[in-house]
Amino acid sequence: MAVLPIHCYEHEALRRAADPITDIDDEIRRLAADMRETMLAFEGLGLAAPQVGVSRRLFILHHNLLPEAEEPRVFINPELEPAGEPYIDREGCLSLPELYGRVKRHSRVTLRAVDLEGRKLELELALLAARAAQHEFDHLEGVMFVDHLAKGQRMLLRGRLKQLAARTAQGWLRRLEDEQRK
Ligand code: ZN
Repeated sequence: MAVLPIHCYEHEALRRAADPITDIDDEIRRLAADMRETMLAFEGLGLAAPQVGVSRRLFILHHNLLPEAEEPRVFINPELEPAGEPYIDREGCLSLPELYGRVKRHSRVTLRAVDLEGRKLELELALLAARAAQHEFDHLEGVMFVDHLAKGQRMLLRGRLKQLAARTAQGWLRRLEDEQRK
């Protein structure tokens, strides 16, 4: 298992719709294991495959968000059914280091997916867990949280977004060893 580098705004992997997974093979199992290590090392609550540069429909969520989970859970080819009142809360993203914004999300969702064994999953999630599922699902559609921000907020972040996009365009990736050196 390995901690992978995080691909940041505006890497092209983050800006296209990811491909469905037709075969849960060794490559997918290795990807999921590496993503788990990566999410825990970077202290994220979730991670989607495009964030490690892989354009496949898979994300993981931290066990702290989920009922009766002791390990991060893997969601393959997920589908979301939103419910509940929309509400606004603060959001961040490993692909947008040190940037935060207030994003409107549904307060509840039904998350359907398959796991690494190909078993069907269906979870009812609320509040922070529902928010994280919507955030990770967005990554599979090429959407990032800053796309949802109100115009005024986006304006405030504009300079830092531009800077980040420029670093990414030069080939920069967010690596754990660089952050540990800080
Ligand atoms: Zn994210």
